[in-house]
Amino acid sequence: MFTSSNSVEGSSSRRCAGCKHLRRRCTEDCILAPYFPANNPERFECVHKIFGAGNVARMLKMLPVDERAQAANSLFTEAYWRVKEPVYGSTGVVIRIQQEISAIRCELAKTLAQISMYEAHNAPRASATAATPLLQQLDTLGTQENMFLFDPNNPFNFS
Ligand SMILES: [Zn+2]
Repeated sequence: MFTSSNSVEGSSSRRCAGCKHLRRRCTEDCILAPYFPANNPERFECVHKIFGAGNVARMLKMLPVDERAQAANSLFTEAYWRVKEPVYGSTGVVIRIQQEISAIRCELAKTLAQISMYEAHNAPRASATAATPLLQQLDTLGTQENMFLFDPNNPFNFS
């Protein structure tokens, strides 16, 4: 099989998504090339639409090489959500999840309070065997409560 890294055909297809979009030559030291490959043009279009190609290139240049890939990923994530939700962007996702957590915590607190009231009301009359199912319910709820504890290191994990 014939392969050549410096063929004419190869040089035009080696342009990164950024240079292709901007219709310019992609040089060997192109700052965008490692993070915006030609096979994913939507990624660059999204970032270019929100931040502008020049700003993205400047931001990447300011960072150490080993942090650029992560920066490009976070720029894309920010841009993606800003395109999808023009008002709140990625903040909208965080706010929505915080509201869900808050609603679930409120529901849980209400349920626990109802159980406590029910137990307090029935405890003096209930026999040991009748109280057992309620105690089991409380144990199960305790487990569910742990499920909704907020982990700041992993805010999107609710399992
Ligand atoms: Zn390029």
